[in-house]
Amino acid sequence: MKSNRRRLAVLGSTGSIGRQTLDVVRAYPDRFAVVALTARGNVDLLAEQAREFQPSLTVLTGGDPAALQRLRDALPETLATTSGLEGLTTAATLPDVDMVVAATSGLVGVLPTIAAIRAGKTIALANKETLVMAGHLVMAEAKRAGVAVLPVDSEHNALWQCLRGEDPATVRRLLITASGGPFLRLPLARMREMTPDQALNHPTWRMGPKVTIDSATLMNKGLEVIEAHWLYDMPYERIAVVVHPQSIIHSMVEYVDDSIKMQASIPNMHLPIQYALSYPERLDRAGTALALPLRWDEVAKLEFESADMERFPCLRLAYEAGVMGGSAPAALVGADETAVDLFLRGTIRLTDIALIVGETLQRHNIIASPGVEEVGAVSAWAQEEARRIAERLAGASLPPAGAER
Ligand code: MG
Repeated sequence: MKSNRRRLAVLGSTGSIGRQTLDVVRAYPDRFAVVALTARGNVDLLAEQAREFQPSLTVLTGGDPAALQRLRDALPETLATTSGLEGLTTAATLPDVDMVVAATSGLVGVLPTIAAIRAGKTIALANKETLVMAGHLVMAEAKRAGVAVLPVDSEHNALWQCLRGEDPATVRRLLITASGGPFLRLPLARMREMTPDQALNHPTWRMGPKVTIDSATLMNKGLEVIEAHWLYDMPYERIAVVVHPQSIIHSMVEYVDDSIKMQASIPNMHLPIQYALSYPERLDRAGTALALPLRWDEVAKLEFESADMERFPCLRLAYEAGVMGGSAPAALVGADETAVDLFLRGTIRLTDIALIVGETLQRHNIIASPGVEEVGAVSAWAQEEARRIAERLAGASLPPAGAER
């Protein structure tokens, strides 16, 4: 019985994507089994998940001994636990894992993902940094190992669904949809007054603060363009962004005969997660807790317009970093991380994010084909550089990085 189930390692199980992955597992207990769970520091939720799904390994990556003890106390002795970042790689390469759901945030996901690829595991990828910063490494490893990298992000998942069964040579363009975020209609002159609270109020998706700010600036869409470049081996001039405020169409593929295929569904991450987990099958959701059919009479209208790179300079910067290639996307991500953090603290203005990221990119000396360590070093350099630029803009020294917001 158990051997028929797809066996998963969920890296980052207490985050938003990790929790929704477990919702999918819960809805199809005869299709999926959880072999490993990892989380950074949310001991209570990790313990609860481990008690429910009974993985053979539970990993607390934060490396805090007291927290590990609390986790062990909360779990029956039959369940193995470990801590530290190397536990991510252990979890990702366990012999009885079929698929790794890579849902950690940040660069920590890259090495375990590459290790999993080398061990022949299918990857369900939800970690942005992995492809944006190390796409050249990850996709080369996947090609070498003959392993599939299946995208969980809604846009890339939609592109994948639209590309299925088609000859790649007949694809003209990938069209990635963007909701446009909360400031789509805001005049450029008023953009600089927007507060973190206003920026965190996303119209169609509920997400963590970093990605919500990235959605308000369209940086998130720019990072998705870079991901699409790597996933589908598509040059940047053939990837376009289309603003679609209702977030019902999750992306489109335009073919050489002018035909466009779109994927539509209610905006909700369970579907792209489920599609990646069950591929190549589609699982019937009727009667499950996940059922969320789209009723056209409830969708008043669908609107589309082109993305305005003047008003959303972060999107333009992401394209530029992608075209520069090499380590430029790592510098983009590092600078953006710092700038978004400073904006959320109220230290800089929303419009300063693009200024800071743009100036950091200008100062970066690109490494043509960086290894994982170099990618990390460039990102750390960009964080520091962004801080210095922000201090100059704010005309003051800023609270230390990592201090509580
Ligand atoms: Mg997305």
